[in-house]
Amino acid sequence: MLRRPRIQHPLPGPKAKAIIDICEEVVSTSYTRDYPLVAERGEGCWIIDPDGNEFLDVTSGIAVCSTGHAHAEIVATIAEQAGKLIHMSGTDFYYAPQTDLARALCPRVPVKGGHARVHFSNSGAEANEAAMKLARWSTGRTNFVAFANAFHGRTYGAMSLTASKVRQKEGFGPFVPGVHHTIYADPYRMGGADRATDIALLHLDEMFATVLPKREVAAIFVEPIQGEGGYVIPPDRFLVRLREICDENGILLVFDEVQSGMGRTGKLWACEHSGVQPDILTSAKGIASGMPLGATFASRDLMKWPPGAHASTFGGNPVACAAAVKTLELLDRGLIANAARVGDHLQSELRRLVGDHPRVGDIRGRGLMIGVELVQDRASRTRDPELRNAIVTDCFERGLLILGCGRNTIRFAPALTLTEDEATVAASLFADSLHHLAR
Ligand code: PLP
Repeated sequence: MLRRPRIQHPLPGPKAKAIIDICEEVVSTSYTRDYPLVAERGEGCWIIDPDGNEFLDVTSGIAVCSTGHAHAEIVATIAEQAGKLIHMSGTDFYYAPQTDLARALCPRVPVKGGHARVHFSNSGAEANEAAMKLARWSTGRTNFVAFANAFHGRTYGAMSLTASKVRQKEGFGPFVPGVHHTIYADPYRMGGADRATDIALLHLDEMFATVLPKREVAAIFVEPIQGEGGYVIPPDRFLVRLREICDENGILLVFDEVQSGMGRTGKLWACEHSGVQPDILTSAKGIASGMPLGATFASRDLMKWPPGAHASTFGGNPVACAAAVKTLELLDRGLIANAARVGDHLQSELRRLVGDHPRVGDIRGRGLMIGVELVQDRASRTRDPELRNAIVTDCFERGLLILGCGRNTIRFAPALTLTEDEATVAASLFADSLHHLAR
């Protein structure tokens, strides 16, 4: 028997509503809650709310709980480490969980020049801050190139690179000087893989020819698959050419794998699909199964800044590092392969159920990083954010936790433990919702 969501309407139920009411009084108004889910307990790909409703979760807490909610081995690892040492500040003292993690992960990170070192922090934004600082420090240059629709975080440096939604920047300027944005290669929106690559590279060339001297650029920051921007997969040739441009001009190439990394795409890193190696790679989200951890990797030749140049009190704390070591072990024991296999199944279910629906413009993805782009009609490809938003809320009512990304895309970013049966249920709930809202 397939496990299905169990929902008692109306949502939110009384216990959930009591929590939401308090939240509305005392928690920042800046949080974006698309629907009123109160998560009390998680198990695998399921979330149970305080009223006993059971939801199938294909968000994994925004691509974070890579090993599923409350994986028994992760829980045991965290408990064991917490019983021994919770914090000692890994930037001032040594402890084994941090070195264990660095030793396990560094050889697996395909940075150019090999022999990666890692700087630990607490989040994706911080991992990118470290990359910005390392790039400026090691090149002596001040400028950065980033892409439209990119999301790199919300601290000042990372926010300056971010170009995802204007709300994220409105009222916060001025930003870190020296960040220049250009166009990302989006095959669906720009006339196919070749044309998208040509257009994006042409814009970059124009930028270099008119406003930004190449030799003053420290780094190009790029997501090898855009996450918040809409789960957009650029053509390999785009990434290959960025690598060449960087090599020709002494620019560092930074891959932000905060969302696309740690096995989600069916390989440990999304950049492995194209074979392009960055100089710096940043990771967070799924790295520690839900414990806060960010990581910035670069080759030993690059990461040689002096003591005191960059550090963080909490970054790489023992509990998060122990969880990350166990996470990597679980990924290697089958979850990366599962992401590839079940991701294929989920994509083919989505194609089978809604592939020819007139409001579905594009279904794309790698592994368990899958986007469905919704349009007003297939000919004009006009974005349909209203339909997308309506589906997100309607799916919640049906017991499927799903999120949007970009302006009009639905994203499937479940735990890498998702089973074929769960994928089948998720695809059919999504299809029911689409058919109901867009007949
Ligand atoms: N980079 C990418 C690609 C992301 O998707 C995100 C978050 O969504 C970030 C950076 C920022 O991560 P955090 O929210 O942990 O600061």
